[in-house]
Amino acid sequence: MLDPAEREEQLVTEEPRQRFILEETGFDEVPKKYRKFYRKWQGPGDILAPNEVLCPVCKVVIRSTRELRPGDRVYCMPCMSRLVVVRSVTGNLEARVAY
Ligand SMILES: [Zn+2]
Repeated sequence: MLDPAEREEQLVTEEPRQRFILEETGFDEVPKKYRKFYRKWQGPGDILAPNEVLCPVCKVVIRSTRELRPGDRVYCMPCMSRLVVVRSVTGNLEARVAY
């Protein structure tokens, strides 16, 4: 499984998720076949797409081929963190380290 978003059996049916075509953005800290799943964060002004979430550990943007939602688990390969997607107080998606 190349996609860092780990698929889990859905217990409830959910709205179809938007799909995304990923292209490499020059991120070179992981093996080539994984590069399109990550990009460098441009700082506080960086707008994250619905399929992107920022790793709180290494500040790399993790990208999925599908829209991310709260409860999704993602894996950050550059720092080997397992993360869970949550809805922050500001309404944006953010990732927290999963223990
Ligand atoms: Zn990371």
